[in-house]
Amino acid sequence: MRIGAHVSISKGFPSVFDEIKSIGGNCAQIFSHSPRSWRFKDPQNVEEFRERYKKEDIKPIVIHNSYLVNLASMDEELHKKSMENTIKEFETAKSLGIDYVNIHPGSNRDPKIGLRRIIDSLNRIETDVYLLLENTASKIGSKFEDLEYIIENIEIETGITLDTCHAYAAGYDIVNDLDGVIGRIDESIGLKKLKLIHLNDSKFDLGSKRDRHEHIGIGKIGVDGFRKIINHPELRKIPKILETPVDQRRGFKENIEFVKRLIE
Ligand SMILES: [Zn+2]
Ligand SMILES: [Zn+2]
Repeated sequence: MRIGAHVSISKGFPSVFDEIKSIGGNCAQIFSHSPRSWRFKDPQNVEEFRERYKKEDIKPIVIHNSYLVNLASMDEELHKKSMENTIKEFETAKSLGIDYVNIHPGSNRDPKIGLRRIIDSLNRIETDVYLLLENTASKIGSKFEDLEYIIENIEIETGITLDTCHAYAAGYDIVNDLDGVIGRIDESIGLKKLKLIHLNDSKFDLGSKRDRHEHIGIGKIGVDGFRKIINHPELRKIPKILETPVDQRRGFKENIEFVKRLIE
C-alpha cells in the first residue's frame, strides 16, 4: 500500500526523500514554497531531486498549492496573484518531474459564478502536469458534482483527491455508507479519476462543514471507519497522504504505523 504524509522541504526539495523515509512512508506531498506567502523561489537542486525520484521507491510526490490561492475570487488583485501562483506550481512540478499538482477549487459568494471563474482560470493554463482537484468541507468543491462540472469543462488533464475529513464534514457518510459514497464518486466523476486520498480523521461531526483534521482513529471517522476505508477494494490501490496534526499525542510516524496495523 502507498502511504505517506505531507512533509516539509525546508531543507530543500531533495530532503523530501529522507523526511518521508524517516517516518516510514513511501509517497509524499509537499508545498513548493511557504503556503502562507506569495513569494516563490526558483527550485534548487532540481537535478538531484530528479535523480533520487527515479531511484527511490517513493511515489507519487504531489505538490499542494498555497492557502492564499482562490481562483474563484472576484477580487481582481487576488485573482491575478492566484493565477500567477497556480502557473508557478505547475512549472515547479514540471521541472522537478513531480506527478501531480493538488489544488482547492476556491470560494465565491455565488458558487455558480465561482465555478465559472475557476473553469475560465484553469482554461488559461497550459501544462501537461496532471491536476488534482481536492474535495472540500464547505464552499465550492464540497459536492462531488462541483468537481465533476469543473473537470468536464476544462482542457488540462484533471482528476480528484478525496480528503476523508473534508468528505465527512461535507456530509458524505464514509463511516456508515462507504460503498454509497464511492458509488456517488463513480457516477459523477468516475473512479478512474480518483488518484489520491488525503487520509485524515475529522474533529467535527458528519455534515458539520468544519475542516479540522484529527489523528487517525481518534476523530469522528474512528478506527472502524478507517479500517473500512483502508481495506476497501476500490481504495486499496490509491496512494494515501496523511495531513494529520503533529503534536504531543502523535506525529506522522505514529499515524502511519497506526494505519498499517489496520491493513487486512
Ligand atoms: Zn488540501
Ligand atoms: Zn486535504
